[in-house]
Amino acid sequence: MTDCIFCKIANGEFNTPFIIETDDYVVFRDINPKADTHVLVVPKQHYESLTELEDESLLGKLLGGVKKAAKELGLKSYKTVINTGKEAGQEVFHLHIHVLSGNIKGV
Ligand code: 5GP
Ligand code: ZN
Repeated sequence: MTDCIFCKIANGEFNTPFIIETDDYVVFRDINPKADTHVLVVPKQHYESLTELEDESLLGKLLGGVKKAAKELGLKSYKTVINTGKEAGQEVFHLHIHVLSGNIKGV
């Protein structure tokens, strides 16, 4: 989607450093971290939210990305969050998984 910030980041348009990049997703640091470590696992394909995701096999890959990111960052304990819908706190309408660790303030 052309005016989606996470599509642009995933396309490399802002030269955002990726902690992990695969054919299916990228992992990068949240710009406004709510924990000592706060990264986002973001599919390259645009889905507005979990509700719109039809390819459920992608979910397994994204959770694999969570595990890989935790390993890469040396996280022993972490929280995983998916906000779905405005009332639930979703602000960026491109599916993403939050990974938070250390002094978690909540998302
Ligand atoms: P949501 O509330 O939609 O679940 O989470 C969106 C997250 O994306 C927020 O934690 C916010 O700080 C982060 N975010 C918003 N815009 C940007 C951006 O341009 N770059 C990065 N790295 N994170 C962003
Ligand atoms: Zn998008």
